[in-house]
Amino acid sequence: MNELKQHLIKLIDLQGPIPLSLYMAEALGNPEHGYYMKQDPFGASGDFITAPEVSQMFGEMIGLWMAQNWLNMGSPSRVHLAELGPGRGTLMADILRAMKIVPGLQDALTVHLVETSPTLRGVQTEKLAPFTEPLWHDRLSEILETDRDGPLFLVANEFFDALPIRQFQKGDKGWHERLVGLDTSGTDLRFVLSPEPVMTPDLVPDALIRAEPGAISEICSAAENIVRDLAEHLKDHGGVALFIDYGHDHHSTGDTFQALEKHEYVNVFEKPGDADLTAHVNFQRLKECAESIGSRVLGPVTQGDFLTAVGIEQRARSLLLKADEKQKADVMSALKRLISPEEMGSLFKVMALIDPGIPQPTGF
Ligand code: SAH
Repeated sequence: MNELKQHLIKLIDLQGPIPLSLYMAEALGNPEHGYYMKQDPFGASGDFITAPEVSQMFGEMIGLWMAQNWLNMGSPSRVHLAELGPGRGTLMADILRAMKIVPGLQDALTVHLVETSPTLRGVQTEKLAPFTEPLWHDRLSEILETDRDGPLFLVANEFFDALPIRQFQKGDKGWHERLVGLDTSGTDLRFVLSPEPVMTPDLVPDALIRAEPGAISEICSAAENIVRDLAEHLKDHGGVALFIDYGHDHHSTGDTFQALEKHEYVNVFEKPGDADLTAHVNFQRLKECAESIGSRVLGPVTQGDFLTAVGIEQRARSLLLKADEKQKADVMSALKRLISPEEMGSLFKVMALIDPGIPQPTGF
């Protein structure tokens, strides 16, 4: 058993069951043992592959989409381009390379990265060295709370799915929180239900209140707070925020909490800190959060529809012109992986917050 799991068992033994959000936050973000704090989890040899690691086309399309909005805003002379959870920096590198074709845009940019992992900050420095020296932040508020001299262009790919969630399960008397407790021997972790039902407003969406007994509902307050803060910021400073993640576009019940190690699903309690933990994103809920602040929301649409609408197939064709046989096969399989409904095309959704002054962009 790893050290973090021993620590969590001791903690629960002393103070009782903990919310799933605390378990997830510790497993991913514990400064010493947290999954993202100690390793680079991406790529074929890592635990999972994200869209920017599948192909440069993904980031290029997003870069061009951002550039289109910049032009539509009348090419403001200062822009803050920010990314939440930039991983290896691949997405930002592809965005910046694509933006080069738009005269004046590069000179207007200050690049901000929100990243907690020192290991990944190192990887990002190297990846972005040819383009820019980014400014790093531990949290989004550091970007939003400093007086900014231009609009914000923000992107987050597979970021919300890594933020801690809480789960609630419908019982006879109401909704009980699913907590992380100890098994009967006291030596392993398992789910237990809070003895009393919780007060549901804000914890379980109204649309799910009448769900069947046994149904599970999830919330991710951290993602909701980020969306509300961004909605407020965009009202005052203008710009766009683009979110891409796997999840659903309507309220639904179900346990989506999962652990992945070396591309295989593993038990969520087996190795906290060694396996990646994620949950699906409820885009409907995030949309409602933004709209409650008066934000203009585009989507969610599927990743396949978004990428196709912004021209990924044309981009693939232009790459094919210069490619040898092996490269051609790679481009075609990456394209399929990104847009096909059987692969990432339907499960992944794209949603944007955009200031009302910007004309409707393509993609939605
Ligand atoms: N966007 C990248 C990586 C996704 S993985 C890609 O598409 O490849 C999640 C990223 O978010 C990692 O960089 C991780 O270190 C970072 N991260 C996770 N939780 C975070 C938090 N609470 N604050 C800031 N960064 C976080």
